[in-house]
Amino acid sequence: MSKLYFRYAAMNAGKSTALLQAAYNYEERGMKVRLFTAAHDERAGAGVIASRLGLRRAAETFGPATAFDADWLGRGWACLLIDEAQFLGPEQVRQLHRLAHRTPLPVICYGLRSDFRGEAFPGAAALLTLADDIEEMKTICACGRKASMNLRVDDLGRRVQEGEQVVIGGNERYRAVCPSCFYSDDGDPGRAPGLFG
Ligand SMILES: [Zn+2]
Repeated sequence: MSKLYFRYAAMNAGKSTALLQAAYNYEERGMKVRLFTAAHDERAGAGVIASRLGLRRAAETFGPATAFDADWLGRGWACLLIDEAQFLGPEQVRQLHRLAHRTPLPVICYGLRSDFRGEAFPGAAALLTLADDIEEMKTICACGRKASMNLRVDDLGRRVQEGEQVVIGGNERYRAVCPSCFYSDDGDPGRAPGLFG
């Protein structure tokens, strides 16, 4: 009846901004939306979706135990908007897909595709498999090419190549880069020294 959407991008491409804009567009027409973000994302405090442009608003959080079923969600919602959707579990993506097709509720997910090693987040892999409408949001590497990968850096701005898939610590730990820079030795677009400093 409806659709599951996946809007993916590298870090800092404006995903949260786009989500908040979509929420505004619905509400401007008098429709109610329900907003979710990942429970462990503490960048803006628990249960807040914050865009780098300064917009922010409260959101419910989902964790591994959240079950997106129609009874739990209740009625009267025009749209479900989910930020940090890479942290959904595959079963939750399945629930959202089922929800979108068995109720009139569109579900729009925003998230990263790959982690700092260039490997899929489980939620992103599931969304890329099941979502009915998939679109890449574009952002730019420091070298000028399209950024589609994410680097992780340490406190000194040096590239980190190994570690856990998720580090809570915010956007300053990551750089969106193009594949060419990602596969260079240090990920630094040396043609533009200082930009990653
Ligand atoms: Zn680049």
